[in-house]
Amino acid sequence: MNSTTEESVEAPRDGGNVPTAPASDTPSLARRSKRYQRRKMALGAAEWAVEMTALGAFFFSGGSAALREAVSRVFSAPPVVVLLYLIPVGAALGAISTVFGAVRTFWLDRQFGMSTQTAWSWAGDEVKAWLVGGLLWLAAIETLYALLRRFPDTWWLWASVAFSFFFVVLAHLAPILIFPLFFRFTQISDPEITGRLERLAAKAGRRIRGVYEVNLSRKTRAANAALVGFGRTRRILLADNLLDNFTLDEIEAVLAHEFAHHAHRHLPKAALIQTATFFLLFGGLHLVLDKTSGQWGLRGIGDVANLPLLVLAATVIGLAVLPATNAILRSYERAADAYALRAAARPEALCSALERLALLNLADKSPHPLIEWIFYSHPSISRRVEQARRILQRPAKGG
Ligand SMILES: [Zn+2]
Repeated sequence: MNSTTEESVEAPRDGGNVPTAPASDTPSLARRSKRYQRRKMALGAAEWAVEMTALGAFFFSGGSAALREAVSRVFSAPPVVVLLYLIPVGAALGAISTVFGAVRTFWLDRQFGMSTQTAWSWAGDEVKAWLVGGLLWLAAIETLYALLRRFPDTWWLWASVAFSFFFVVLAHLAPILIFPLFFRFTQISDPEITGRLERLAAKAGRRIRGVYEVNLSRKTRAANAALVGFGRTRRILLADNLLDNFTLDEIEAVLAHEFAHHAHRHLPKAALIQTATFFLLFGGLHLVLDKTSGQWGLRGIGDVANLPLLVLAATVIGLAVLPATNAILRSYERAADAYALRAAARPEALCSALERLALLNLADKSPHPLIEWIFYSHPSISRRVEQARRILQRPAKGG
């Protein structure tokens, strides 16, 4: 679960008229949504296959060890060797991901009418994402190799602790420090909106410091609502697309779901799951490095030439634990929906918000169960609506 943004509600901006109910869900639209989601998934799988093949070829051909050798002939300081090794490797991986990103998030999204972004704006965002992502990855990898060199036997414990901490800090700071690089935030003063959301916050025992509109519509038809930050920085972010296309009852229902995650303390629980995942991941990587040290020209466990092997092994381990973590996250989503049905002024608005979400987001309402089981951190829309209807039909028992 992402601790900051939750519900992606993508909506066409058709002159700003607020529909009172989702348009009828036609079979052709369902087919179109399936086609869109399948293409997105196929492109994601192709990118993954290309990256894994490139990394595998680079490592097993001896190219990785040769690059480290060339760099360490000129520079001896290990952090510098890591940095100079990462520049060409990062550039090559970045180039692959930019090409696939252009096809997936620019070309495909335009084909299906999801993107509203110009090529220049898209390219500008790519450059910013490269800079921010590059610096974060550099810090993470330098830290990892510093730990590998300093604590060759226990590095995986330290790395798990360090990365868990890094993850929590980043999840909290990203909405405040990184999101504003890409979007503009404007405080909403309309008392009808802020009043309802503040009442919702009070019900969940949380105080919010402001409701902000985010100008998402300049880039995408996507709409989003999120409850971000903590303490003095806790605020609600509402996409302009959401404000334009959803009724206030629906917005309140979507936010009630977000407050549910806070009321049920899902964020610290998700952070604990993430920590457990890091321990499994780095513990597994330690076994791999232990078994392969000295092979393929590697010079011990802290040799940056083993990075492609680490990435390949991390991908396998990550994929193995994904169904388990996603199963837990889906249970949190079910609980949040149930809470939203109790907390929202008009609970049935949750159903129409979810339907609208599926309709406008071109979401596959009923994905293949296996795909849902492995990759979905939220239950499919059809399951969520089904649960909501079931709860709404139940006779009220109080609470
Ligand atoms: Zn959620």
